Amino acid sequence: MFWRKRREEPVTVRDAEPPPWQSGTHAVTQPEDDAANDALDALGAVLRALARNAFDLGDLNAKSIEKKLEGWATHILVCGPVPGTEESGGARAPRRNFNAMVRAVTEHRKFEREYVSTTITELRSTLWSFVTTLTRSLGAEESTDTRLRERVERLKEAVTSDSYEALRAEASLTANVLADVVHEREERARRQAAELGKTLRSLREQLEEANREGALDPLTRIYNRKTLEEVLERSVGLSALAREPCCLLMIDVDHFKRVNDHYGHPAGDAVLKEVADALVRCFPRRGDVVARYGGEEFAVVLTGSTMEEAVRLAEKPLQAMRALTVKHGAHAIQVTVSVGYAGVRTGELADTWIERADKALYAAKTGGRNRAVAAT
Ligand code: GH3
Ligand code: MG
Ligand code: MG
Repeated sequence: MFWRKRREEPVTVRDAEPPPWQSGTHAVTQPEDDAANDALDALGAVLRALARNAFDLGDLNAKSIEKKLEGWATHILVCGPVPGTEESGGARAPRRNFNAMVRAVTEHRKFEREYVSTTITELRSTLWSFVTTLTRSLGAEESTDTRLRERVERLKEAVTSDSYEALRAEASLTANVLADVVHEREERARRQAAELGKTLRSLREQLEEANREGALDPLTRIYNRKTLEEVLERSVGLSALAREPCCLLMIDVDHFKRVNDHYGHPAGDAVLKEVADALVRCFPRRGDVVARYGGEEFAVVLTGSTMEEAVRLAEKPLQAMRALTVKHGAHAIQVTVSVGYAGVRTGELADTWIERADKALYAAKTGGRNRAVAAT
């Protein structure tokens, strides 16, 4: 077994002869040795259980935590190097450092507790800010309604009073109140949209963290189509609520079939990987999402970018491809791409948005390829 402990004492070959305690010579010490070994086994198993069930703690990812705790398990079980000293030779430790192990596990547990309690507090305050915004909005609507009801009552009275003067005065007052109400409503809607937009963005960031696993395309290691569709849905919602601009770029490799035909499918795969890497380098902002839409088609979501900004940004992949040569075996392969882009319209569905960008991409293809075209 890989985890077999290293005995501190020289090991005697016991398989050939009965164990000494059975022959009566070590009746006390040998079972105690076994108990100590069992304890080491158990401690090692506990450390491994912690390692295998590690989870992301913000910037500290589950893999690195797992590696460290596995390191401690190896140290305890077979006197492996103390974690953190592997690079400097990786020599086996002369003896087990139980104190350092207890310190490391305690530190880790503390960090875990702090992270979880901070995350829960943040999530709770985000949800509270939602509730507060909605409550405030409902309260404001109610008091506006009361003011309007009062005005309507006064206007009714004036109508039945037969006094032209009273009617004129009430009508003019009502017109003023209505103008105020409309203005207040607009202001309130703007403020609410901004507040909700901020809250949604923070929720989106938290969800993005949670969704990272299983969100990638296996060949290119960029986001897959499913993730892209989720991002587009959220962007549509955000743009409706917070009037946040957002642009979608659809990017298709030109004449890609010829690459497969000339150089073979594996070469085609290599090209797709390098195109994906180059796109990620073109769009490095935190709000930029680069995804493989399918086959040799990619999509980029530019959160916060207007169509004016997209004119310049859509040129970036074209330039990047002109500078890219993919080496595969003896071949040096060059490709170009065509780009179609569209800014999200308030209230439109994600499908319609994709369709508009796709139409622009089609126009770029029929217009001669290796170019970017904006949706009309
Ligand atoms: P256009 O400029 O009009 O886009 O021409 P095209 O040849 O790029 O487009 P077409 O749709 O005719 O061909 C796309 C090719 O992409 C066909 C398909 O076999 C290939 N392809 C799709 N997915 C993969 C993949 O994962 N790996 C490789 N090597 N090829 C792929
Ligand atoms: Mg193509
Ligand atoms: Mg295509």
